[in-house]
Amino acid sequence: MARSAQESLPASVVSAMERGGSGMDFSEIDLQGVVAKLQIQSRDSLAQRLPGTSPYRADRTGPSGATQSQFSGNTGSSASPAQHSRPLDISSVRLDFPALHQSIHGFPLVWFDNAATTQKPRQVIEAMSSFYALDYSNIHRAAHTLAARATDHYEGARETVREFIHAQSKDDIVFVRGTTEGINFIAHTIKGFLREGDEILLSEVEHHANIVPWQMIAREVRARIRVIPIDDSGEILIEEYRRLLGPRTRLVSLSHASNTLGTVLPIEEMTQMAHHHGARVVIDAAQSIAHMPVDVQAIGCDFLVFSGHKIFAPTGIGVVYVHPQLHDVLPPWQGGGNMIRRVSFDETIYSDAPAKFEAGTPSIGDAVGLGAALQYLRQFDPISVEAHEHALLEHATRELKGIRGVTIYGHATKKIGVVSFTLDGYTTEMVGKELDRRGIAVRTGHHCAQPSLRHFGLESTVRPSFAIYNTHEEVERLIEAIVHLSRRR
Ligand code: PMP
Repeated sequence: MARSAQESLPASVVSAMERGGSGMDFSEIDLQGVVAKLQIQSRDSLAQRLPGTSPYRADRTGPSGATQSQFSGNTGSSASPAQHSRPLDISSVRLDFPALHQSIHGFPLVWFDNAATTQKPRQVIEAMSSFYALDYSNIHRAAHTLAARATDHYEGARETVREFIHAQSKDDIVFVRGTTEGINFIAHTIKGFLREGDEILLSEVEHHANIVPWQMIAREVRARIRVIPIDDSGEILIEEYRRLLGPRTRLVSLSHASNTLGTVLPIEEMTQMAHHHGARVVIDAAQSIAHMPVDVQAIGCDFLVFSGHKIFAPTGIGVVYVHPQLHDVLPPWQGGGNMIRRVSFDETIYSDAPAKFEAGTPSIGDAVGLGAALQYLRQFDPISVEAHEHALLEHATRELKGIRGVTIYGHATKKIGVVSFTLDGYTTEMVGKELDRRGIAVRTGHHCAQPSLRHFGLESTVRPSFAIYNTHEEVERLIEAIVHLSRRR
C-alpha cells in the first residue's frame, strides 16, 4: 500500500514543503503523487530559467508522414505548443495528469473509464485556474479590459477548435454543453424542415443521445426512424444502409465510433451516400475526437458534435460544427441575450452564426479549458496516439480472449480502444467491483447504448476503454484480476 507523504518523508522536509507553499494536501496525496508533482514543478522552473527548452514551447517539427489536419494549421499565440512537437513518451504524458498519481484502495489508480470521461492534464487545470484568477469576466458586452481578455480567450478557444477539426471558419463552431445538448440543438433547429413521412436513419450502435432526441422530434412531425443494422462483429451492414436510403431520407445521424463495441463507422462513405439522396448528415464524434483525426471537410458532414470532457477538457462544454451553408438557413433554437442584433417588442433581428446559436452567457471558463486541452493534444503526432491506443486494445483483446468464461463483443476491423466483455459466473457489476477493489476503474452496465447490446441479447457488459496515458502494465493488471475471478468460479 502506498504510504502518505506525511508518513514517508522526514518531518523537517514536510514542514519545509508546507512553509514553501508547495500547495499539496498531504492528507490526500500519496508519495507517488507528491514525487510526480515535484518533478513537474522542477521541470517547469527549469523551463522558465532556460527559455526555449520547455517541452510545451518546442518548435521542432513533428515526425514526417503525420499529415492529419486535425492537429494542423497552428495560428495560435506564441504560447501555443507547436503541433506534433512532443514525442509520445507515455511516462512523461502521465506526469501531466495529477489524478493518475493516486492510490485507490491501496493500489495505484488505473483509469480505464475513458469512454465515459477522461482525466485532465495540469495544462487544462492551470489554464482554467489562471483564467478565473486573472482574466475572468462575461464576454462581448462591455468596454472594459477584463471583458476584452475573456472574449479573446473564448474566441481563441473557438479558433483552436476550428483548427483541430479542420473547419473552414471559426463561425462554423458553436459552443454547447456537450454532445447531448448538441444533438438536441440540431434536432430542434432542423425540425422545421421535416415533414410527415420523412425518414431519419440511425445506426444500431447509437448512444441514447443520438436516438432519443430524434424520437422526440419524429413523434412531433410524424417522421419515421429507420435503423441501419450491424452484423455480429459489430460492423455496419453497408448494403442494408444502401437499401434504406431513398427519396424520403431527410437525415442520417451516425456515431463516428461506437462507445460499446468500439466499431469505427465508415462515415466518409456513408456521408457521401446520404448526400447522394439529398439527406443531411450528423456525426456524433463523442468517442472518436480524442482517439483519431477528425476532419469535418474530409468527412463532408453537415454537422459534427463532441463533448469536451471526453478529450481531457472539463464538463459543461461541447461543440457543434455547423456547415457554412446552413448558418443562415437554420433558425436559432434558444432566444435571449448574446444572439441578437436588435430587439424591439415587435421584432428581433438575430446575429449571424455562431452567436445566433449561443443565447445567454456561455460556459466561458470551460471553453478556455477546452482550448487548452486541444492545444495539449495537438503536441502529439496523432498517428502515434492512435497506434499506442491500438496496441493497448490488441493486448487487452488477445489476453482476455484466452481467459476461460470471457466473451468479447465487437470485433470490427477498425475499432477504437474499447473492449466490451462478460465473464461467465459473474454479473458485470461484480466484475466492476472486484476491479475497483484493485484500483482499476472500468464502466459496467448498458453504457447508454442499449440497442447495440440487445443485438447480442445483453443488457450489460464490462467496458475498459483506453486513452493516451494508459500503459501495457495497466492492461496486465486488468488481465490478472480477470484471470483471478475466472479461476475462482
Ligand atoms: N454519444 C456517444 C457515442 C457517447 O459515447 C456519449 C457519452 N458516453 C454521448 C454521445 C453523450 O455525451 P455527453 O454525455 O457528454 O453529452
